[in-house]
Amino acid sequence: MSHDLARENRQLREQLAQLIANAQKNQEILQRHQRLDLQLISADTFQALSETLFTTFPQTAGLDVVTLCLLDAQYDIRRILVQLEMNLSEMPRLLFMQDEAEFGELAGRLSKPVLGPYSEERFGMLYPEPLTPPSSAAVVPLLRHTRLIGTLNLGSNDPSRFQPNMSTDFIEHMASIVAICVENVINNERLKHIGLTDPLTGVNNRRYIERRLLEEIGRSRRQGTPLSCMYMDIDHFKQINDRIGHQAGDEVLRGVAGRVKAELRLSDSLGRFGGEEFVVLLTDTEPEDAVNVAERIRLSIAEQPLVLSSGQKLDVTISVGVAALPPAASDDAAEASARQLVARADHALYEAKARGRNRVVWEA
Ligand code: GH3
Ligand code: MG
Ligand code: MG
Repeated sequence: MSHDLARENRQLREQLAQLIANAQKNQEILQRHQRLDLQLISADTFQALSETLFTTFPQTAGLDVVTLCLLDAQYDIRRILVQLEMNLSEMPRLLFMQDEAEFGELAGRLSKPVLGPYSEERFGMLYPEPLTPPSSAAVVPLLRHTRLIGTLNLGSNDPSRFQPNMSTDFIEHMASIVAICVENVINNERLKHIGLTDPLTGVNNRRYIERRLLEEIGRSRRQGTPLSCMYMDIDHFKQINDRIGHQAGDEVLRGVAGRVKAELRLSDSLGRFGGEEFVVLLTDTEPEDAVNVAERIRLSIAEQPLVLSSGQKLDVTISVGVAALPPAASDDAAEASARQLVARADHALYEAKARGRNRVVWEA
């Protein structure tokens, strides 16, 4: 009898220990998830949010791959992130779609999570190369005020992890937090972008170029790569304004900015420095090459009249001064070097004007 009691007692204690262990485990899981929620909410840049989603989240939730797909019809989000120097080509987990139709057979079904075994037709576009496709997947809609802004895509190498009739309370909770955080960081980045953009032409503003110049000078010195700067100014712009009016003059500014931009690489930065003056920074570019680019830009403007919205055609020319950052020998403060570089390009521009305009001058 006492023997039975002792055995029962032992069993009860084992059960209790098991329950406590389970409770502790659940407590730990809960705490991990709370930490994840906090980390998501406190992300104030897109970069920080991406790191949390693509690194911390899979670890916390035991997932093998997580991707984020954002609806970005007007390339709006991508433009902002590129301007803020995110290298999107190095982020295979961050996907963009123009509209919901690109979700293929999932389109129109994304008011609720879609779970199931992986199939290429159904989920393939959400786990693109070089990612390894999972064995089961959950596509969780990110909704803001019932509008689909994207999807959070979870993948597991366990084929039974996500099954069609599973409860989705947890992942929906997660998605509601992620949706708010995504919207919040995009708005944050948008504000930064506005602060660094010239509203008239849509190119970078002076503040952006000045900041970028310091970074590029640092990089150029560290890596021993050349850095060139162009200072360009529209010829006789005052006369243009006087002839066609200030508003049409604004159109000319936009048109010129567009022509310049079309000749540049993604790594070059174009900014409106003020009035009808633009500055371009050409990274990893020798001055001889910068002169060639400047000449190409000059011709692209001089050889084709601008067509204004009124239909009027207008011949416009620009003058360009080019200068290069002196070899890394000097250890001047980056600020002083930046001022010098721009001043030398401006001086070359002055020469170009003096020699008759519509030309490129290089300040050796
Ligand atoms: P130069 O060939 O020597 O450069 O002659 P310019 O007439 O282009 O130079 P100037 O600096 O005398 O004139 C620049 C003009 O640009 C004067 C100013 O009214 C005009 N301007 C400055 N900002 C804007 C703007 O945002 N929109 C328009 N439409 N005009 C502007
Ligand atoms: Mg000027
Ligand atoms: Mg001018």
